[in-house]
Formats: sequence, C-alpha cells, structure tokens
Amino acid sequence: MTAELAEAPSSDIDRLNRVFSDQKDAFEAERHRPIDQRKADLKKIEDMVKARAEDFAKAIDADFSRRSHSETAVAETGFTIATAKHTRQHLTQWATTKRKPVPMTLVPGKAYVRREPKGVVGIIAPWNYPMQLALAPLVAALGAGCRVMIKPSEFTPRTGELLLETLSGLFSEDHVAVIEGGPDVAAAFSSLPFDHLFYTGSTHVGRIVAKAAAENLTPVTLELGGKSPTVVAPDFNLDEAAKTIAWGKFLNAGQTCVAPDYAMVPRGSEASFGEAIMREANRMWPNVAENDDYTAIVSERHHTRLGEMVEEARNSGATVLQADFDATRAGNTRLFPPTVVINPSPDLQLMREEIFGPVLPVLGHDGLTQAAKHINQGERPLALYIHSKSPTTARSFLAKTLSGGAAVNVPMLHLSVEDLPFGGVGHSGQGAYHGEYGFLTFTHERAVFEAPVWHPSRLIQPPYGKMFEFFKKLQGG
Ligand code: NAD
Repeated sequence: MTAELAEAPSSDIDRLNRVFSDQKDAFEAERHRPIDQRKADLKKIEDMVKARAEDFAKAIDADFSRRSHSETAVAETGFTIATAKHTRQHLTQWATTKRKPVPMTLVPGKAYVRREPKGVVGIIAPWNYPMQLALAPLVAALGAGCRVMIKPSEFTPRTGELLLETLSGLFSEDHVAVIEGGPDVAAAFSSLPFDHLFYTGSTHVGRIVAKAAAENLTPVTLELGGKSPTVVAPDFNLDEAAKTIAWGKFLNAGQTCVAPDYAMVPRGSEASFGEAIMREANRMWPNVAENDDYTAIVSERHHTRLGEMVEEARNSGATVLQADFDATRAGNTRLFPPTVVINPSPDLQLMREEIFGPVLPVLGHDGLTQAAKHINQGERPLALYIHSKSPTTARSFLAKTLSGGAAVNVPMLHLSVEDLPFGGVGHSGQGAYHGEYGFLTFTHERAVFEAPVWHPSRLIQPPYGKMFEFFKKLQGG
C-alpha cells in the first residue's frame, strides 16, 4: 500500500500512506455508517460553510489576487450549502435497499440491491472553484458513507489551508483528511489503491490520473474540460443572446469548466455580435481595472498564456475587441480584460485548446446543420449551448450533437439543477455526480438474491430429468 514515487518530501508521502491506512482501518471498523450520522456529517459541513463563508471568500480572493465575493457567494458557498442540504433531505430514500422483481423460475426467492459505501475514496480538486469542487464531491462521498481524502490544488493554497483547518475541526483524520501539496503529492495520491478516485481538472492530467488508477483497478470519475460551444440559431435575437453568453463567459473571468468556450452565430453577424458581447461585458463589469466583481487570472503563467493566445490571433489578422483597461492603474498584473476575437483561424492555439479565460472567439455558421458538423469534428465537449426561440429547433440541434450536458437559451445552469447528472463524455470526462448521481458514484450497488431454505432450483440440478425439461420451458427455452 505504499505510494511509489516521487520527489515529494518523504514526510508528505509518509503522512499520505498513514492517513490512507488509518482510513482503511476505520472503514473496516464501521462499514455502514448509520444514515442519521451521515446526515449529521452533512449538516456539520452546511453549518461550517455558512459560518465561515466570509473567510472562504477572503481566502479565494487572496488566491486569485481578486475574486468577486458575490461570485464566491453564489458559485462556491451557496452551491455547497444547497448540495449538502439536498443530499441530507434525500439520503434516506437514496440509501434504501431497492427490491427487484424475480423471474418466475426463481420464485419464491427475493432479489434486491443493497447500496453499500465503496470504502476509502480520493478527491483531487482543481483551483477554479477551489471550495465547491472539493466540497461538493465530499458531500456526495459522505452521504454514501465513505471515508474521504481530499487533495486541493496547489494554485489556491490559502483555500487549501482553510479547507484543512475547517474540515479537521469537524472530522477526525480517519474520516475526512485534507492532503496539501503539488503535482508530486498529487501523483502519489492518485497511485493509492482507493476504492474510488474522483478527479476534477484538465484532460491532460486526467489521462495521467486514469493510468495511475488503472494500476490498482481503482474506478475513476473524471470531471474534465474541453471547448464548450455556444450556438445562436438564426431565429434568436443576437442582442438577447449576448446578454447570457457574456455573463457565462466572463463570470470568474472565464475560468469555469462549463463557460462557453467559443460562440457560433449566423455568418455575416460575427462582428455585430462581438460588439454586442463587449457592450454587455462593459455593462456587467464596467471599469474592470477597479471593479472588485471582475475576477483576476489565477497565476502569472495562466495570464501569460492568455496574452500569447490573443497576440497570436491579432498577428494572424483576426479582429480583436477588448475592454478598455489600464494595467498600471489596476495595480494587479493578473487582470485580463474581456476580449472577443472575430473569426480566428482554426489552427490558432485559441481554437485548438480550451481557453479557460475571458476570451471569446466568435465564428460564423451557415445554419445549424453546419454548426453541428463543425462541433462533431472536435472532441465531445463538457457542455453545449443552443439559443433558439423554438424548443423544437433546440432539441433537434441537441439530437445532432453529443456533449456531457447542455442548456438551452442560457449557459451553465444545467449544473445548478441538483437532480441532473453533471459530467463529461469522451475527452470531457467519464462518470457524473450531483444529487443521487453523486451518491451512486461513491456507492456500490450490490446485487443480492435470497433463497428460502428449500428452493425449487434444486429440482434442476443434475441428473437432468423431467423437472429440468419443465424449467427449460418456463424459461422460454
Ligand atoms: P489540473 O489538471 O492542472 O489540476 C487539477 C488537480 O490535479 C490539482 O489538484 C493538481 O494538483 C492535480 N495534479 C496535477 N498533476 C497531477 C498528477 N501528475 N497526478 C495527479 N494529480 C495531479 O487542472 P486545473 O488547471 O486545476 O483545472 C483546469 C481544468 O479543469 C480545465 O480544463 C477545466 O475545464 C477543468 N475543470 C473541469 C471541471 C468539471 O467539473 N468537469 C470543473 C473545473 C475544472
């Protein structure tokens, strides 16, 4: 059970192995945490998040060098509280053993599915919503009755510290543990023989995590990224579309896995749509240099990458629209103003990689069939958005494409519906969570058949005779 690797200090690896082993022992000692206690665990998280909401907002603000407290309130604390409450309210029903009908040949036996906790599970979280994306999977895992180790992102160390402080105040380390550290610790973490590994982050690292998990035959959930398109049908008013698309794109400065990555609008309207996006960006986040509601980029490296992408597009001759912005006056080198790039060429980095920043490429389409064809040529996205006045048109567009999730006439809100599964498909991920789907991710559905002391199946044991022939007939054979 020793994690191989790495350049991580041996004390970190020692702790990792010790906590893992303690959690395994604790799980063996209590395989079925009573539902009431699980509900109490969730209530503790809910109450802690409410009580420490401002501390989390400050920590995330400091990690980003500026993160809108309002966006943190809705997308991190509010989201986590709602998830914990929803899970608590439905837990009894989700955890109940499910009876299943038995075929005539197996009467009078009973069949049912026991929903068992998988055991000790790992959660690897990214930096972009560093609280929500650590705590929402934790809620699902605790609801399922698991023991949980969480590895927060090294890019948001203050939030990681606060997660450690708050969770260690609520749970013993053999129940919930926060393991801090960089990629070396993360690599050692993902090589532990967990009973389930839940990873949120880039597709590149997701592949590494999946390989490490495969060594142990550990089941994985991969919540990855990709280029999520947003398409405007010819019947939809472009100014109206710009209102929701600009919001979805520039919230958290575009550092949202389900943010619209690029837009496709009827050909010929790219420039006017780009201007409408900039108008909406300026209306929602005026004076980005001094606007505390406009979030900064998480690191200098990520900021430089965005700058290089836009520069490459500009040098290629594409039109770039950018909000007025004076970096010196802002006193923050990690702010990146809302930006639109009209018709960038497909070979640019901007169109090859997930952007993950406040830059919106706008492309033209020649109708929804061509737009679908364009999308289907790329990897399957995490989310897809279609704006149309006609539900029939929107649904027929959905039928022509495939994505992890989708929303009509507004980006991102599918992830706020607790009872919808949230996850990717293909390169944008595998598995899903939220609501009962999250509970099931960390649950083993164990099939049980119970026969009475004497069961007619004995009649079909060899030597095969008349009863066997009768059973065959009953079976349809
Ligand atoms: P990342 O992959 O760089 O990091 C995520 C986590 O992986 C961090 O905790 C990091 O320490 C860890 N990690 C790094 N190297 C590792 C290794 N070798 N082995 C194991 N773990 C390792 O991702 P990121 O940059 O923090 O996040 C951005 C990406 O995440 C974007 O692509 C975005 O779309 C995606 N994302 C997806 C979702 C979703 O729900 N599908 C949500 C948020 C972000």
